[in-house]
Amino acid sequence: MEKKMAEWGFKSQKRTVTIRDFLEIIKVNLNKNDEREVIHLGHGDPSPYPSFRTSPVAEESLINALRSTHFNGYPPAPGVSAARRAIAKHLSDDLPYKLSEEDVFLTAGANHAIEVILTVLARPGANILFPRPGYPVYEARAAFSNLEVRHFNLLPERAWEVDLDGVEALADDKTIAMVVINPGNPCGNVFTLEHMQKIAETAKRLGILLITDEVYNHIVFGSNKYIPMGILGSVTPILTVGSMSKRWLIPGWRLGWIVASDPNGVLNKSGIIESVLNYLCITADPATLIQGAVPEILEKSTKEFFLKTNDTLRESADACYATISEIPSLSCPHKPEGAMSTMIEINPSLLGDVKDDMDFALKIAREESVVIMPGTILGLKNWLRLSFSVEPAALRDGLERIKAFCSRHSNNYKN
Ligand SMILES: *Cc1c(COP(=O)(O)O)cnc(C)c1O
Repeated sequence: MEKKMAEWGFKSQKRTVTIRDFLEIIKVNLNKNDEREVIHLGHGDPSPYPSFRTSPVAEESLINALRSTHFNGYPPAPGVSAARRAIAKHLSDDLPYKLSEEDVFLTAGANHAIEVILTVLARPGANILFPRPGYPVYEARAAFSNLEVRHFNLLPERAWEVDLDGVEALADDKTIAMVVINPGNPCGNVFTLEHMQKIAETAKRLGILLITDEVYNHIVFGSNKYIPMGILGSVTPILTVGSMSKRWLIPGWRLGWIVASDPNGVLNKSGIIESVLNYLCITADPATLIQGAVPEILEKSTKEFFLKTNDTLRESADACYATISEIPSLSCPHKPEGAMSTMIEINPSLLGDVKDDMDFALKIAREESVVIMPGTILGLKNWLRLSFSVEPAALRDGLERIKAFCSRHSNNYKN
């Protein structure tokens, strides 16, 4: 039996390094004798911080769903009807056509939506195009489905727009889809309509499915407005990944969705929608109770709640950009204007004994009790991803520690 197991090679199941893996490595590196609080700028879960508490509406809606006794049973595979309808109506507010309940599939968070989509699309020999830098769950999930991953670049000098020439060069007749994330994680950028049109036209010309990850929908605080890719659904069919996690600050509730923006019915004819439905029948469901709360949450959430989050994030993004600009060995090519993180380039030649981004992250964890994500994990060596969705006072403290760290390690440092 043991021999047989070894032959099957379970242990060697491919998986790329994810953010979670890296955070485990960092934890070991923290200095337990540092009495200062650890500042977590490495991952984007704002929910523990008082400034990012979810709205009372979400809390009350959940209690009402619980007390109703209607949501104690198994949900239908694609989700509770009223919740799908409510999400369809909610998202249609931003679209030139109306989504229906049948266009919406509920998942246990956006990560599960990614799992569903990649599982359905994977087939022998196929490849898929992801952005670099990106969101590592995509790579990890594709590896499990033996789906070949190819990366196109996001261009820092062009506000992190997609390198569309790169996309054209990568795609071949085995390419099934491309993924874009807007508003952008990790870059904090927000695409213009003109750029989105070019992306949709490129996908159409190449005959590949366009998948857009919009878990940060409406989390924008710069000059570009949030526009759903779905408005271009008549140019090319689009699968949108969405979630309550970020906008409602409840990532632990695990409610996400897949939406088919496909007014011409191309996806239905292709069998993709049926495959999604089939897979949803055998995969875990988001808790019925949470689904039951969705209609009330969507109906009663106030503008003020969303504005407050965006105002806090705007101030935090500005503070990051301003402080990083003062540090000679770091640069932030584009001021974040959406989502909850930004990319910072390191110039190791100005930081004597700091070799690269991994070394930077390990040393700053040990010396300053600051956790920050090395760009290598996201495909970009000598960059850092800084998540600014933490309590603003902690962020300011963290930025000062980054500044002190860089100054202490700079080539010109004198004791
Ligand atoms: C956070 C995040 C997700 C996962 O969202 P959940 O709903 O918490 O699973 C997916 N994509 C991106 C780009 C994210 O930042």
